[in-house]
Amino acid sequence: MELPASANKNIPTFKCILVGDGGTGKTTFVKRLLTGEFEKKYIATLGVEVRPLTFNTTRGQITFNTWDTAGQEKFGGLRDGYYIQGQCAIVMFDVTSRVTYKNVPNWHRDLIRVCDNIPTVLCGNKVDIKDRKVKAKSITFHRKKNIQYFDISAKSNYNFEKPFLWLARKLVGDPQLEFLPMTGLAPPEVHIDPDMRKKMEKDWEEAENVPIPEDDDDDL
Ligand code: GDP
Ligand code: MG
Repeated sequence: MELPASANKNIPTFKCILVGDGGTGKTTFVKRLLTGEFEKKYIATLGVEVRPLTFNTTRGQITFNTWDTAGQEKFGGLRDGYYIQGQCAIVMFDVTSRVTYKNVPNWHRDLIRVCDNIPTVLCGNKVDIKDRKVKAKSITFHRKKNIQYFDISAKSNYNFEKPFLWLARKLVGDPQLEFLPMTGLAPPEVHIDPDMRKKMEKDWEEAENVPIPEDDDDDL
């Protein structure tokens, strides 16, 4: 595979695998950073778009070559080539669709089957939508698997950088690493009102203090 231009500039570059059910907002999410727009590469044999997303950090630049499908996930699992040599991953579900959360263990299982133990973030997307179905307190999968979780809204840029920041800290090995102020982010298409945001953050804090139920191990 020909490498994106950013790989030639000595910027530390990591393959980031994006998985989750179709329609959860994966493509919307990776398209937020407009800087990756010009260098993206389409791998026809796998039906994959690779988008180099570059962030300026307190430790220099870092690029995530983010792998996004052309929609094949709607028809079941993805080919091994999608996962091979993945260095970090984002698993996405839609907080307005329970079934997309129910499928998270399947995506995670497929991922670790090929990639073993890579830094992984679980993202619940579309938190801008008022009628949330997957509530903070029922999101426990990440705690059992020791992965990180963030509420996000790709359309409003809410927490956009959080998953990448968490991954960057792991990959660089510096928990103090910070992103420098970001340019080139697409303008928000929707806004989350401040009250809703406050409630969301409070719900989340409360949920994190509840012990994990012991009765099930691999599922939700
Ligand atoms: P993918 O199949 O996982 O790549 O999902 P897409 O990015 O194609 O998004 C599926 C649908 O969800 C599209 O209609 C998007 O506009 C919508 N969508 C994506 N992210 C958000 C979000 O944060 N909020 C809302 N309200 N809609 C979103
Ligand atoms: Mg897509």
